[in-house]
Amino acid sequence: MFLINRSGEGNPSATAHANKGRIAPLLPLRDIIVFPHMVVPLFVGREKSVRALEEAMSGDNEILLAAQKIGKQNEPTLEEIHSIGTIGEIVRLLRLPDGTVKALIEGKQRARIIRFVPSESTFLVEYELLHDIVYPLTDAELEALVRSIQSAFDAYARLNRRVPPEVLVQVQSMEDASRLADTVIVHLTAIKLNDRQALLETVDVKKRLERLLELINAEIEILNVEKRIRNRVKKQMEKTQKEYYLSEQMSAIQKELGERDEFRNEIQDLEERLAKKSLSAEALDKVRKEIRKLRMMHPMSAEATVVRNYIDWVLSLPWNEKTEENYDIEQAERILEEDHYGLKKVKERVLEYLAVQALVRKLKGPVLCLVGPPGVGKTSLARSIARATGRRFVRLSLGGVRDEAEIRGHRRTYIGALPGRIIQSLRKVGTNNPVFLLDEIDKMSSDFRGDPAAALLEVLDPEQNKAFNDHYLELDYDLSDVMFITTANSLEGIPAPLRDRMEIIELSGYTEFEKLNIAMRYLVPKQIEEAGLSRSQVEITENAVRTIIHHYTKESGVRNLEREIASICRKIARQVLVDSKQDPVGARVYRIAAKHVPQYLGVPKYHSTKTSEQDEIGLTNGLAYTQYGGTILECEAVVVPGKGELVVTGLIEKGMQESAQAALSYIRSRQQVLGIEENFYSKYDIHVHFPEFVPKDGPSAGVTIATSIASALMKVPVRRSVAMTGEITLRGRVLAIGGLKEKLLAAHRAGIKTVLIPRENRNDLREIPRRVLQSMRIVLVEHMDEVLAESLVLPNPASIFGNRPRPMEVVAGKLIEFGSTAREALQEDHNKSALA
Ligand code: ADP
Repeated sequence: MFLINRSGEGNPSATAHANKGRIAPLLPLRDIIVFPHMVVPLFVGREKSVRALEEAMSGDNEILLAAQKIGKQNEPTLEEIHSIGTIGEIVRLLRLPDGTVKALIEGKQRARIIRFVPSESTFLVEYELLHDIVYPLTDAELEALVRSIQSAFDAYARLNRRVPPEVLVQVQSMEDASRLADTVIVHLTAIKLNDRQALLETVDVKKRLERLLELINAEIEILNVEKRIRNRVKKQMEKTQKEYYLSEQMSAIQKELGERDEFRNEIQDLEERLAKKSLSAEALDKVRKEIRKLRMMHPMSAEATVVRNYIDWVLSLPWNEKTEENYDIEQAERILEEDHYGLKKVKERVLEYLAVQALVRKLKGPVLCLVGPPGVGKTSLARSIARATGRRFVRLSLGGVRDEAEIRGHRRTYIGALPGRIIQSLRKVGTNNPVFLLDEIDKMSSDFRGDPAAALLEVLDPEQNKAFNDHYLELDYDLSDVMFITTANSLEGIPAPLRDRMEIIELSGYTEFEKLNIAMRYLVPKQIEEAGLSRSQVEITENAVRTIIHHYTKESGVRNLEREIASICRKIARQVLVDSKQDPVGARVYRIAAKHVPQYLGVPKYHSTKTSEQDEIGLTNGLAYTQYGGTILECEAVVVPGKGELVVTGLIEKGMQESAQAALSYIRSRQQVLGIEENFYSKYDIHVHFPEFVPKDGPSAGVTIATSIASALMKVPVRRSVAMTGEITLRGRVLAIGGLKEKLLAAHRAGIKTVLIPRENRNDLREIPRRVLQSMRIVLVEHMDEVLAESLVLPNPASIFGNRPRPMEVVAGKLIEFGSTAREALQEDHNKSALA
């Protein structure tokens, strides 16, 4: 059903007839095809074209717009211009300062150039209008094409954001199929000029729509592919670009700060160290990770410092470094002998211990614990053990450690965190099989920060210490090759679970004789050398050492003795320097005799022995046992008018008050025998005082207090040459005490002539060095009466205490028992006194 303006393709001239003879100026277009209904701004520069516009403006504003076949051509001929174009109307004309013209032109209708009208100044053509071949609105095919175009255009618009929304709306509602096609093509910006021209030339609307649909679909296809590629590339770009960008930024910062190279070197150093180091697999892995982390960090950041320190810690620990162990027991014995005087039993115990280790070749079983007062050689013994077993030596003092973290370290999240002291010590010693001395294990305490003893338990337990986990390292460290040795001043302070794991070896204080020997053989030569002197240059006599022992030290061990000797040696060294300046060739020998000692050490710090002092009323020598060894414990008592109060001062120990009460009760029960004023206990106050503070003493001062009180009440002096120890019952029976050996050593040091000890302690006498026993008289007492008879300065004790059997005695190192009947007699007497 062909309709109005029908014009068969094959015969277009048939329709052109009515328009014949129309003349219009021609504007040749480059790079653009103008469609009907399209309003375009055109910049016109060519002279001929400008004139064409002017020509049109002087007429009816109509101008023919036809594309050049070759856009670059400046002076196209007719053949070089497409014969089909669009007749347009100039809406506005604007002359620009540079002589060009901007024209706003609206396309009106397709037109065909029939011929050129020759003209000098411009293009003039004769043309005919072309009419579309249109179809009725009911044509289903047309309808389908229209809809397809509309939806395709919609999809296209989605992909190409440059289509304005109002155009989209316009297109969707457009009913004129021809106009639809011409509008859509304008917005398909990527379509080539040839295709556009072809569309312009297609007057059959259906054909035009079909072709347009093809083009638009192809376009969508391309856009989709483009989009996919863009997305893929974008993702890739984003990732690499981001990394690139960040690392560039980082290096820019680092360069700015000028330490990038240094940092790189540092990391390289760490890597080299790691390559050379033998570590546990876990540690190796961890260090690698940390180095990787470090590389990403800013060199000056706090985090980098933390990581760097950590790596340094792990790398400087001995993971597999060890010294070769020596299991030769004979050699070990030689070394122990070489380093230490005496200590026979101790050395034997140590050698037994080492023999067991040598047999099993593995450190299993209990840890050695050396217990004794300061300065008796615990540390130096441990050092010897290290030397004897071919291990290095490291010492860690636990005194005052109260925080679990000190043993096990702080987590790395803490500011300034460090590994615990165990790990720190191992780093210091540099091997993983040293002798590790844990000093003063009895001085640890625990508080809210956790129990260090529990952590230590793990360290010492052979089952657990294979994988010791320090909080800072967070790596398992194998402690099983470490030989732990502990020391303590007294057993009391050692937590029970720890004590169970240890083999206790007790070292006691030294006698004067032992001290003298140690000094002459070890301390003096050692200190002479340490002061940079030679042994041929200096002589310190035995008597000089004895003077130092008596008047400059008061101790169980030899620590202060060594210090004083060292002090003398240093002073000699100075003197040697001064003398050698004055007389460079003279080789003088410096001889230090007893009388020279004060020149070097100043006035004596301690006075002569107790025996040379006056006997006094109410002043008694007790003996106490402390963790620093044994000591003389003086006790004073005074009686003043009052109401019978008993006050004990000077010592904070709990048991003292009870001891004093018991002592007083005994004296009340013996008031008559002792010849003390009746009802004294309600007329007088009794004040008992311990002038010297002695920390920690068990309740073993009962006899001492009783003697002082009795002396004060009886107004009879106590012998200064006597010292005593023992606890008493209300009835005056003397009970056994602990620490006898240390107490006797103390009495020996103080030059005491007679020591009263409980008879029940008789068996302990076996441990006492012979020299000590030989130097004093020891009386083994059972009853307080015996104590008073021995210690008070009485003209005739028998007149007071009756004919008591003589107590057992040790005289000149020999035990004397006075007859087997002695015991029964004593018992009888005791019963009597109890009845009284
Ligand atoms: P401790 O650890 O028990 O407090 P040390 O081991 O520090 O005592 O001993 C103090 C000093 O006395 C050290 O120089 C040590 O060598 C020396 N010493 C202690 N006992 C002896 C001994 N029996 N033989 C040789 N020197 C000793």
